[in-house]
Amino acid sequence: MKRFAAVVASTALLATQVCFAQMGAPGERPVALPAAPGPLAAKYKTDADKIIQAALADDDGYAALAYLTDHIGKRLSGTPQLNTAVEWGAALMKKAGLENVHVQPVNVPHWVRGAESATITYKGEAGTIVKPLHMLGLGMSVGTPKGGITAPVVFVHTFEELDKLPDAEVKGKVVVFNPGWHGYGVGSMYRTGGPSRAAARGAAAVLVRSATGLALQTPHTGTLRYDEKQPKVPSAAISVEDALLIERLTKEGPVTVHLEMAAHMELDVKAGNVIGEIVGSEHPEQVVVLGGHIDSWDVGQGAQDDGSGIMATFEAVSLIHKLGLKPKRTIRVVFWVNEENGGAGGRAYREWIGDKIGDQVAAIEMDGGAEKPLGIGYGGFGGPRRPQPPTPGAAPAARPSFDPSSLSPEEQKSFATLQDIVSLLGAIGTDTVSPGGGGSDIGPITADGVPSLSPRTVGEHYFDWHHTEADTLDKVDPDSFRKNTAMLSVVAYVLADMDGKLAGRKSTFRE
Ligand SMILES: [Zn+2]
Repeated sequence: MKRFAAVVASTALLATQVCFAQMGAPGERPVALPAAPGPLAAKYKTDADKIIQAALADDDGYAALAYLTDHIGKRLSGTPQLNTAVEWGAALMKKAGLENVHVQPVNVPHWVRGAESATITYKGEAGTIVKPLHMLGLGMSVGTPKGGITAPVVFVHTFEELDKLPDAEVKGKVVVFNPGWHGYGVGSMYRTGGPSRAAARGAAAVLVRSATGLALQTPHTGTLRYDEKQPKVPSAAISVEDALLIERLTKEGPVTVHLEMAAHMELDVKAGNVIGEIVGSEHPEQVVVLGGHIDSWDVGQGAQDDGSGIMATFEAVSLIHKLGLKPKRTIRVVFWVNEENGGAGGRAYREWIGDKIGDQVAAIEMDGGAEKPLGIGYGGFGGPRRPQPPTPGAAPAARPSFDPSSLSPEEQKSFATLQDIVSLLGAIGTDTVSPGGGGSDIGPITADGVPSLSPRTVGEHYFDWHHTEADTLDKVDPDSFRKNTAMLSVVAYVLADMDGKLAGRKSTFRE
């Protein structure tokens, strides 16, 4: 996943019902609005209670997740496992009785990791150290020439430090970035942008500290984004511990790296978005869409990222169908493809919608893991979710602030509507609304003004496992999974059945 995080600069009163109270450190935790029961709470109490009861007693959703992760496993774009998952997903939707089940064909890139390794050699007064690194090549990276690259290390914390180095100190070297851990926004900025930043200065290769706050010698992969104007250099993530070791050793004496990566691109492969519906009884053309991404990295099982998202959203819709509830609008579940290294599924979905974009009433993406949920995020209100790479010499850009006074009256009303809806979720502790919600896959439609939402969780461990061998089923707590399912189900159902719609905003979308 690519994470959304809204920032709130100030506490403010918006309207009688809308009170923003800041939670947590600025820049890390979004504000959360409490529940405020209104007409929707009164109207939907019976249905919501039924849904919650069914979701809390449900074993099918977690069992499907277990099958996906244990029996199909990791499913990188371009691999047969992904296409197995796509076929299985469509069969699952059909078996659940969803309507209009189909696979929308999407061509996806096929990046192949190949064999890879990295070893450092330190030679100093204290002797010689030769140590293999815990590494994972970054997704979409080129490989090294056969036999690998051996080059001296130049260690920097930040882009700013890199910019200050003379060319001669960077040219032909392996740049190692350790920006520390300041949240996923900054960490992933170094991962996606670091390779070309260093290549522009003549670096031969890049190693970047894994984007995580937990040090357990686990490398975290993730996609990079090459600047087409710069040479493509092989790039890998290394464990936090190895990044820190390199930092210490380079203070003592020269360190060299031998890096070998057989990574390469193959021809695009046909895969697809998996789509199923409960067709609306009065406004079938109007759609509340929810889902996550079916692809994963080629490590672990893609359990939290994003098996949990597709299975919780699927089960949320399946339960509505099982309970015989018939919303006025269509509820559509989508397993988008190729979120991790390309975003082809989200773009194909946008193309498929075409000029009917006004009928997309709301879009909910779950791609932040199924940890204990706190409520729902409603977005494009946090501004761009990731700072732009700073200009050379400048300090990293702060996240743009959320300015509650910038909300239109319609948007304020929408917050109140959501506060009304989440008041139905007090029993499972998910009765808050936070500004800022969305996801990469729905980005292409929310960029055109479709209201975007996503579950908010405690987010305690997601980035401990994210994009690693450790993203396995055991990390998904069944109780939290069921609560996410319950919340998604109630929110999607009420949004699809209520009179009126949420306000949308053309949100800035960036991966
Ligand atoms: Zn994801």
